[in-house]
Amino acid sequence: MENMSFAKETHTTDTAFLSLNPSTLEVIGEVVNTSREEIDARIEKAKKAQKQWAARPDAERKDILLKVADVLQTHSKHLAEWITREQGKPLNGPGSQFEMQACVGWTQVPASLDLPEEVVFEDDTRKDVLYRNPIGIVAAIAPWNWPLMIAIWQIIPSLRMGNAVIIKPSEYTTYCSIEMINLINTVLPADLLQVVTGRGEVGGYLTSHPEIGKIMFTGSIATGKKVVEASANNMARLTLECGGNDAGIILPGLDLAKHIENIFWGAFLNMGQTCACLKRLYVHEDDYEKTVQALADYSSRIPMGNGADENAVLGPIQNKMQYDKIQDLIRDTENTGADFIFRGQKPDLEGYFIPVTLVGNVDNGDRIVDEEQFGPVLPIIKYKTVEEAIEKANDSDNGLGASVWSDDVGQAQKVATQLEAGTVWINQHGAIHPFVPFGGAKQSGYGVEFGIEGLKAVTVPKVISIKK
Ligand code: NDP
Repeated sequence: MENMSFAKETHTTDTAFLSLNPSTLEVIGEVVNTSREEIDARIEKAKKAQKQWAARPDAERKDILLKVADVLQTHSKHLAEWITREQGKPLNGPGSQFEMQACVGWTQVPASLDLPEEVVFEDDTRKDVLYRNPIGIVAAIAPWNWPLMIAIWQIIPSLRMGNAVIIKPSEYTTYCSIEMINLINTVLPADLLQVVTGRGEVGGYLTSHPEIGKIMFTGSIATGKKVVEASANNMARLTLECGGNDAGIILPGLDLAKHIENIFWGAFLNMGQTCACLKRLYVHEDDYEKTVQALADYSSRIPMGNGADENAVLGPIQNKMQYDKIQDLIRDTENTGADFIFRGQKPDLEGYFIPVTLVGNVDNGDRIVDEEQFGPVLPIIKYKTVEEAIEKANDSDNGLGASVWSDDVGQAQKVATQLEAGTVWINQHGAIHPFVPFGGAKQSGYGVEFGIEGLKAVTVPKVISIKK
C-alpha cells in the first residue's frame, strides 16, 4: 500500500529538515533550526519593541492591526497559493482561500474589540478598578493543519493587548508561515512579531525561556503536557488547545437530506485534520442503514486531488508522520473485523493521499473510536438509547467539541447540556466564530481563544484599589 517515494528523507542533517509539497512531494526548501543564541537575541529585541508598543495609544494599535487585516486581504490569493503548496489543502472549497478569509476576519475582530478598565467594586470607603495589562512576550507554537489561521489566532489578540510575539511555526509549514509574517511585518513596528524555525528543540527552548510570559500552543496532548512542564520554569500563562476526539450524536429521525452536507464537512474539513472535527459519529440503530448510505453517497461526489487543481476540494494528508499514523489506524481497524462501508477514490498522484473512509461495526474500546485519528476516516457507531450515546460520547479523555443533530432543537439542547466539551454545536460541527469563546474541557487543554475572553487571556489583570 505504501508508495515507495514516501521514503524521501526529510531530515537533511540533525538540525535541518525539508519542507515538501504534500500533493507532489516536491521539495519546497530546507528548514533550519534557529540557534539558541539567535533565539536569545530575538527575545531581547522583542522586549524593547514590546515596551514601545505597549506605550502607544490603544487607538494606534487598533489602526495598525486593521492595516494588517488589509494586507492579508490584499495578498490573500498569494498566501492561499502558499498554503496549498506547503500545507496541501485545496485552493477551493473549504480550503486555503477559505483559510485566508478566516485570517482576515480573525484579525478584524480582535482589532475592533475593546477591553476597557472596569470598576469591579465601589462603596463609600473604596473604589477598585480592574485593568488588563500586557503580559510581555508571547511564545506561539503554531500547528501545520491550519498554519496561517491558527497563527493569526495566536498573534493578533496578543498584539492587540500590547504584547510582542515570537512564533514558532510547525516544521512542516514554515515557508507559508514566514511568507505571511513578512507581509504582516510591512505594517508592524520592527521586532514586535518575529519568527523562529526548526524542529526538535526550538519550541522547548523558546517556551521555557525566562523572558516568556505567555505560551499559546496548539498541537497534541503529549506535547501540550511538555509545554506545561516548560512553563514551570518561567511561570508563563498558558493557552493550550490540544485537539479532541469530538463525538457527534444523531438523534432518531433526523432529516438526512437537510443535514448530510454539514455532517460530511463536520468530519472531513481539511481531510479531518482539524482539532474540532467530528471524529466519532453515534447513530440510532433504526437510522443506521440510511445514514451510512446517505454519507457514502455524499462522500462519493466529493473530488480529491492535488490542492492546486481547480476541481479538487479534498487534498492530501499534510505530512508523512500523520499519513503513517492514519494508515496504522486503518490497518488496525481492518484486523478487528470492522465494516469498511465506503472508501473513496485515491488520486493517481505521488503525495500523501488517503481517500475518505467510513467505518462501521466498531465501538468504544476500538482504537479508531478511542484515538484521535486526525484524518479522513470516520467511525460510525450504532446506539440503542440516547443515554447510551451520551455515555459513550463522554467516554473520552478529550473534550474539545461535540455535536447533536436533530430537527427538534429543544431535544438536542437537552442532550447538549449533558455532553462534556468546551463547545457543543447543534446541527453543525466545528462552527467556530471570532466573537465566540473556544477552548477545551478535560485533556483538550485549558484557556480560551476568541472574542473578549480571548483578549483577556493575553493580559495580566491588575487592580488599582483606592481608599476614599
Ligand atoms: P506536536 O503537538 O508534537 O507539536 C509539534 C510542535 O511543538 C513543534 O513546533 C515543536 O517544535 C513544538 N514543541 C515540541 N516540544 C515542545 C515543548 N516542550 N515546548 C514547546 N513546543 C514544543 O504536533 P505534531 O506536529 O508532531 O503532530 C502530532 C499530533 O498532534 C498529530 O498527529 C495530531 O494528532 C496532533 N495535532 C493537533 C493539532 C490541533 O489542531 N490540535 C494540530 C496539529 C497536530 P520543536 O520540535 O522545535 O520543539
